[in-house]
Amino acid sequence: MAVMESPAKDARAREFLSVPRKMLINGKWVDSISGKTFAVYNPATGEELAQVAEGDKADIDLAVKAARKAFDSGPWSKTPPNVRGKLLWKLSELIEKHARSFAELETLDNGKALTISGAVDVPGAVEMFQYMAGWATKIEGRTLNLSSPGFHAYTRREPVGVVGQIIPWNFPLLMAAWKLAPALAVGCTVVLKPAEQTPLTALLLGELIQEAGFPDGVVNIVTGFGETAGAALSGHDDVDKVAFTGSTEVGKIILRAASGNLKKVSLELGGKSPNVIFADADIPAAIAGSAMGIFFNQGQVCCAGSRLYVEKKVFDTVVGALSDAAKDIKLAPGMDPSCQMGPLVSQEQLDRVTRMVEGGKKAGAKATVGGEPCGGEGYFYKPTILIDTKPDMEVVKDEIFGPVLTAIPFTDPNDIAVEANNTIYGLAAGVWTRDVSKAHQMAAKIKAGTVWVNCYNVFDSSMPFGGYKQSGIGREMGPDVLELYTETKSVCIGGM
Ligand code: ADP
Repeated sequence: MAVMESPAKDARAREFLSVPRKMLINGKWVDSISGKTFAVYNPATGEELAQVAEGDKADIDLAVKAARKAFDSGPWSKTPPNVRGKLLWKLSELIEKHARSFAELETLDNGKALTISGAVDVPGAVEMFQYMAGWATKIEGRTLNLSSPGFHAYTRREPVGVVGQIIPWNFPLLMAAWKLAPALAVGCTVVLKPAEQTPLTALLLGELIQEAGFPDGVVNIVTGFGETAGAALSGHDDVDKVAFTGSTEVGKIILRAASGNLKKVSLELGGKSPNVIFADADIPAAIAGSAMGIFFNQGQVCCAGSRLYVEKKVFDTVVGALSDAAKDIKLAPGMDPSCQMGPLVSQEQLDRVTRMVEGGKKAGAKATVGGEPCGGEGYFYKPTILIDTKPDMEVVKDEIFGPVLTAIPFTDPNDIAVEANNTIYGLAAGVWTRDVSKAHQMAAKIKAGTVWVNCYNVFDSSMPFGGYKQSGIGREMGPDVLELYTETKSVCIGGM
C-alpha cells in the first residue's frame, strides 16, 4: 500500500498529523460523544491534513462541568498565585522547546509562511505566557478611604470563574495564548474552542498544558464548529464569561447568546483600519510599512491597514511604489523557504475576497496590481491595490480580510481624521508624518483602540489591544486584560 508522504518535516509534527486528534476534557484526550470527526485542510494544496474530533453541545456540557469543578472545588481553587505563575512560565518554555513543531503545524493548517509562524506566532505566544506569568502574583485589591465613619472597607479581585473562549483561524496559537494566559494568571478555568479551520496548534498546546502540570479540568479544549460547539459554549448557563475574537457578525450573535445568564462578554472583532500618509512623512518608510500593514498574513488581520489615505502631492509616488512592491511579493506554499505570502485560509475565504474585489471593479474601482485569484492549486490570491474608489463602495466600507488595499488621495490634512473615522469600526489606525504635533493630534482624533505612528502592526504583551465602536468590547493584553477576567468585590466591616 502506498503511504502518503507527510507534508510536515519535523518529527513531532509528523507524528501529530498521523492520527485523528482528540479533544481535551477534564485532563483526558477523548473522542466526541457522537463519535464524529471533521477534516482540516492544507490551504496550499486543498488536501486533507488531519481528522479532528467534532465536539458539539454534549461535549461542551462535559467540558464546562469539568471546568466548573476545577474552579469551585478542585486543586486550582487552592493553587497559590506564585504556582500559577510558575506553571505559565513552564508552559512558555515548553512552547519554546517545541517551537519548530508549532511553526510547521501552524503553517500547514493556516497557510502562512513558515518564516512568519516561526518569527511571529510562536514567539508571540511564548511572550504572552511569560508576561502573564508575572501578573499572577500582582492581582491586588485596595484599602478604601470611606467617608462613612465606623467602617473598614477593602476590595478583593477575584477570578470571574469558568470562561468560554472562542478564537479565530488567522493566528490560531497566538490567539489561544492571548486568551488562555490572562485567564489562567488570575485563576479562572477555561473551555477553549479553536476555529474549525485551524484547530491543530491549540491541541498541541493542550498536550504541553498537561505536561506543564496544570490540574485536570483547568483547561479544556473542544474542537468543533461555530454554530454547534461555539453556540453551546456562548449560550451555556454555567459559563461565567465568554471571550471571543472573530467577525463582527458572529460577535453580535455571541452577545445575544450570552444574554441568557448575562455572562460577562469581551469581543475583539473586525476592522477597516485607516492608514494615513502625509506628504511630510519619510515616504520610503511609509511605503514599506503600509505594504506590511495590508499584506502581512495575507491581509487576514483584523487590524490590517486596508484603507490607505495618501496626501495628493505624493499619491502617485506612493501608489506606484506600493504596486511595484505588491508585484514583487513571492506567493508560494508556506513551507517553501522562498514564500513571502501564503494562500488564504480556505476556499470560502478565497471566494469571499474574489467576490468583493469583483464587486469593487464593477462599481468603478481599478486595480493597479492583482485584482484576481492566482488560479491553480491552493487558495492563493494576488496582492491587490484598488484606486478610483468611492466612500460608499463595499470594498471601502466592509472588511475584506484578504490582501486588498484601497488607496484614496486627500488634499486637506485638517479633514482627514473625519474621513478616517467614517467607518463602523475602530480597531486600529496608522499615521505617517515627521510633524510631531500632527502625529499627536491625529492620535487623539482617531477613534480606534490602537494608533500606530510611523509604524504598523506592532504588538506587545504589555500594550492593550481592542476596539472602539463595532470593533469590540474590552482590551486584551497589558494590565487592562486583567479587568476582563476578574470581579471586584467590596468588603465592608462594621463596628470599627
Ligand atoms: P470567520 O468569519 O472569519 O471565519 P468567525 O467569526 O465566523 O470568523 O469565526 C471565529 C470563531 O467563531 C470560530 O471559532 C468559529 O467557529 C466561531 N463561531 C462561528 N459562528 C459562531 C456562533 N454562531 N456561535 C459561536 N461561535 C461561533
